Amino acid sequence: MSFADLGLSDELLRAVGDTGYTEPTPIQASAIPPVLMMRDIIGIAQTGTGKTASFVLPMIDILAQGRSRARMPRSLILEPTRELAAQVAENFETYGKYHKLSMALLIGGVQMGDQVKALEKGVDVLIATPGRLMDLFGRGKILLTGCSMLVIDEADRMLDMGFIPDIEEICTKLPAQRQTLLFSATMPAPIKKLADRFLTNPKTIEVARPATTNTNITQWVVPVKGPAVEKRKALRTLLAQEDVRTAIIFCNRKTTVRELNKSLKGHGFASGEIHGDMDQPARLAELERFKKGDVNILVASDVAARGLDVKGVSHVFNYDAPWHPDDYVHRIGRTGRGGATGVAYTFVGPDDVENIDNIEKLTGQKIARVDALPAAEAEPAEVPRRERGRRRERIADEAPQPEVREEAPRRERSRRSRDAHQPVERERDDQPRAARQREDRRDTTRGRARAPAVVEAVDDGGWNGPVPDFLHVGLTY
Ligand code: AMP
Repeated sequence: MSFADLGLSDELLRAVGDTGYTEPTPIQASAIPPVLMMRDIIGIAQTGTGKTASFVLPMIDILAQGRSRARMPRSLILEPTRELAAQVAENFETYGKYHKLSMALLIGGVQMGDQVKALEKGVDVLIATPGRLMDLFGRGKILLTGCSMLVIDEADRMLDMGFIPDIEEICTKLPAQRQTLLFSATMPAPIKKLADRFLTNPKTIEVARPATTNTNITQWVVPVKGPAVEKRKALRTLLAQEDVRTAIIFCNRKTTVRELNKSLKGHGFASGEIHGDMDQPARLAELERFKKGDVNILVASDVAARGLDVKGVSHVFNYDAPWHPDDYVHRIGRTGRGGATGVAYTFVGPDDVENIDNIEKLTGQKIARVDALPAAEAEPAEVPRRERGRRRERIADEAPQPEVREEAPRRERSRRSRDAHQPVERERDDQPRAARQREDRRDTTRGRARAPAVVEAVDDGGWNGPVPDFLHVGLTY
């Protein structure tokens, strides 16, 4: 099947052609025709299946007819996180390049005043996180009565994050006569209930999970019984003994990224780091060093690595097993690309056991365990300084050039269960209402000034996603 069989306009087919995609993915093939026929849809599909284009493409054609009015968006897409929201916005930019649709992104980390201005001009597509949308609605800056199309994306993630009451309220503010598309990787009971209440005679489309792990990647779990020092030792052993040309080492926390990079450098490895505390130019500079082979090891946090797509490395190390199993697939997908083989090691200490269980459940694969690591004969720490320098040069010469390009930030890990592990810098406007109210109360009791009517700058919590060109709003870094 080709895109031309789906009933899309010539302009859209041209834009799709420009991306180089030749065939629709199964969710696109199944969802696009009924969406164009104005059916409500329940799409059971996860990220990675091409589901974004399955609603963005038909929406563009549907919205091509008609005009926007001030403060009355014609369509609304709800996303659980601002990263996903920005990713959807990028899809509109890519596929809508031959159309003249206006868009606005209502997410935290963006000046609200600018968002209000964009809304006042009138938008065809409004992409929002529920928290920020409710906030603006409460301030009377937005009317949802002209919104004839609603997309609730990643509904199960919304549920995890406590957004369902917000979504229910938003749904009641839209006209009853509308088209609603709901996407979710899973259909737990509260999502079914939501769908029963707010969708009309929906067509359910379910697609298989994408091939979660690439067969070109050899995967290993490295059990580590002891404390962090044991993990570092095991890592150094593998780095020294394996044919590591270029490697990305993922850690769950920014502090671990910093500490590990320091430790590796101290042991003579040519390593660099990227994490959410670095600004975008600093991250790009570090990436450039990796790309040029000045360093052949990059220690990274998920958020930083998500904003910057680095592919084509020989090894991926999960120094920590990722909290969210989807991140595992994404992390190890940095290796074994384009027919090349790759190796992924995941260190599993006492804190990682639950995470690796979840990963194995998601991928449906039991990952082989490394029984015992051979003794670290050639730890760079023992290499004389002069030799270390030569080692770096050799690494730089041999290192294949990793493909590095800017990419839309990927899914943000589910935050709810993670809070127990880490004080995640949660951005206020991404929070469900109950949490926002709690926070407001806390602010008052501390005698602090409450948020002003127009928030000028919100801490972006490490956001580093690219800003689509069409946005008439300014991100505050
Ligand atoms: P999504 O599930 O929407 O997050 O998309 C996952 C990835 O698939 C994104 O990088 C898309 O650009 C890509 N993609 C979307 N549609 C297609 C297609 N028809 N063929 C190949 N890749 C696609």
